[in-house]
Amino acid sequence: MNRSAIVFLACVAMLSSCASGPPAQDPAKAANTKVLENFTLIDGTGRDAVPGAAIVITDGRITYAGPKSGAPAAPGAARTDLAGKFVMPGIINLHGHVGNVKGVKQDQSFYTKDNLMKQLNTYARYGVTAVVSMGSDTDVIFGVRDEQRSGRATTARVFTAGRGFTGADGYPSTMAGMKGVPFEVKTSAEVEADVNELAAKKVDLVKIWVDDHLGKEKKISIDLCKAIIGNARKHGLKVAAHVFYHDDALKLSEAGLYAFAHSVRDKPVNEALIGMAKKNGTWQIPTFTREVSTFTYAKTPAFLKDEFFLKGADPEAVAGVQAPEFMAQQNLKKLSDSGVKIGFGTDTGPPGRFSGYFEHMEMDLMAEAGLTPQQIIQSFSSSAAEYLGVSKDLGTLEAGKWADLVVLVRNPLENISNARSIDQVLISGEKVN
Ligand SMILES: [Zn+2]
Repeated sequence: MNRSAIVFLACVAMLSSCASGPPAQDPAKAANTKVLENFTLIDGTGRDAVPGAAIVITDGRITYAGPKSGAPAAPGAARTDLAGKFVMPGIINLHGHVGNVKGVKQDQSFYTKDNLMKQLNTYARYGVTAVVSMGSDTDVIFGVRDEQRSGRATTARVFTAGRGFTGADGYPSTMAGMKGVPFEVKTSAEVEADVNELAAKKVDLVKIWVDDHLGKEKKISIDLCKAIIGNARKHGLKVAAHVFYHDDALKLSEAGLYAFAHSVRDKPVNEALIGMAKKNGTWQIPTFTREVSTFTYAKTPAFLKDEFFLKGADPEAVAGVQAPEFMAQQNLKKLSDSGVKIGFGTDTGPPGRFSGYFEHMEMDLMAEAGLTPQQIIQSFSSSAAEYLGVSKDLGTLEAGKWADLVVLVRNPLENISNARSIDQVLISGEKVN
């Protein structure tokens, strides 16, 4: 006897109750629905946390997130009791590099799909559910990205700037394993051809390195940067720049740059830069952990942050001996307080900048700079999605978006270091292994 015959006989036996009962569930639909319940929800919008919450996920997307009391009935759904736990959005890292590293060696010959997937999975295990690879990619990444976007991602989602720009023999093409990685441009005609190539590959944004590596390398001219920004705009592409110097940042913001992909690290940000960034909507991606690694893991001496010392010391003298890391932290606080848009990024991926772990170190450094846990969470969730123009699909834990989330044992709103207490990570609603 088939299933419908059994149901029919049961109905005949129970007559009235069957006719007036709830409509029959579609078993296929129920099989693809899961419910997480009894946790505290931190949804990434900046709203207060919701205790006693539930998230309903169907086919990898959130169909409900909020108080459990308001959740739709989902008979037949798989239920996970997360009592005592906290759920926050997956971390979106707006500045990473993927595919080029094996161990502590960097070379584009290592760039294979396997190596890329391995690194994406490392990110995912630490709760990083999306990463923007900033200018050091080969075409391998487009296949992986397009495969993820045409279905359900199972590991950290990639966004890519393809190949970034520098000038002839400019930084970072002179660094180990980086020759031939960025475009080295000399003329605006070259810029136009290269931007056209990137647009044809549908890059997610465009990257420029604007740095002389503390005077040791060649830096691209501001005129060529303007040509890159202008050409990118014709294709509707946004441009983010690796910056170091305050005055470069100011000129680039004025020229319509979309984001500073690192902090200004040579001097305190002034009112002119803050005003320009606000007027033109230039984002700041701080990447503190880059300094931690670049300066061979050196830390700023504690006395340089001691209130007692700072009370009497000459500010100019203090600025002169500060590590770029500390300058960057002071600048972040100032930019954030002034209302400049802040996105989360780390510059992980190159040798010694460990993917996944450094994202958590970055959060600690942002807290040390004076940002609240709520601000830090928004920087890697709602703000990061806004930055990428993907708020429809990613960022917050709200109905309609992919269920990319992190289940935590301890409350990250009490202390952002609690974001390390990972119980499980879900991407498109499926557990990452
Ligand atoms: Zn970078």
